[in-house]
Amino acid sequence: MQSETGKIDLAGLRMVPGDGQTVEIAVPARQFKLGGVEYRAQPDPITTAISISRTVGDGWAFKLSFDSVIRGECARCLEPAQLPVSVVAREVHRVGGGEDLESPYLQDDLLDVESWANDALLLALPASIICTKDCRGLCDVCGERLADLPDDHAHERPPDPRWEALRRLDT
Ligand SMILES: [Zn+2]
Ligand SMILES: [Zn+2]
Repeated sequence: MQSETGKIDLAGLRMVPGDGQTVEIAVPARQFKLGGVEYRAQPDPITTAISISRTVGDGWAFKLSFDSVIRGECARCLEPAQLPVSVVAREVHRVGGGEDLESPYLQDDLLDVESWANDALLLALPASIICTKDCRGLCDVCGERLADLPDDHAHERPPDPRWEALRRLDT
């Protein structure tokens, strides 16, 4: 069942306890920021697979999975960076089960896959996205990319004013 709204209408699936099925649904990818840098997930929309199980006691168990590639700037050197991610997340829902057992993504028989998928994507990401595992970033003096500079790249640094002061005390 495809839905325009990024939601699955569970009532429409007519499942009874013990039933299980997998639904594919495409949801819009939301742009997001990580450490102040903007990233986007591709392809957009994201094609997600939702395994749905109807459990006893009017409950549900869901498993979300999809693959995506995150694109944006390297957090260290600002060159284009991309990161493939495989997202897997689970939710359970039991009516009257209290906060721990009620999914925030399920309301009035509608499972909000768009919100869930975008939240789960963020949780699956590292704290920062970099272009290569050993990106050395930028020279903190001239701002050039260290990977593009010779290994012995260095700057004549002005003497530290604190040492200057000590030196004056010595004489
Ligand atoms: Zn980099
Ligand atoms: Zn430099």
